[in-house]
Amino acid sequence: MTINSLQASIAQFAADRDWEQFHTVRSLVLAIQAELGELSEIVQWTPDQEMTPEWMANHRTRLGEEIADVFIYLLRLTEVAGIDLEDATRLKLESNAMKYPVALAHGNAKKYTEF
Ligand SMILES: [Mg+2]
Repeated sequence: MTINSLQASIAQFAADRDWEQFHTVRSLVLAIQAELGELSEIVQWTPDQEMTPEWMANHRTRLGEEIADVFIYLLRLTEVAGIDLEDATRLKLESNAMKYPVALAHGNAKKYTEF
């Protein structure tokens, strides 16, 4: 499955329900935020040390559902906004590589402005 085919499926899903009218850039950004909130709820009160393989096994389906919700809205947002997600991602990765050269960023989590 490609990004384009996923976007086509999502667009068809919206068109079948006459939901295109609701899919404005603003509404889709807020929908992503809402879905990130649902994703956050799953982990927010679980300390890192309790996120064991058993915890993951018990929560993987739910995590996957919420991650998929975020991804679906991201795909829809980029389509509605006329952004080529593959190009935008490639450009951002190149930009990040310039900001975070391996020699300076390896093994630390500092923001590039702190190098
Ligand atoms: Mg959700």
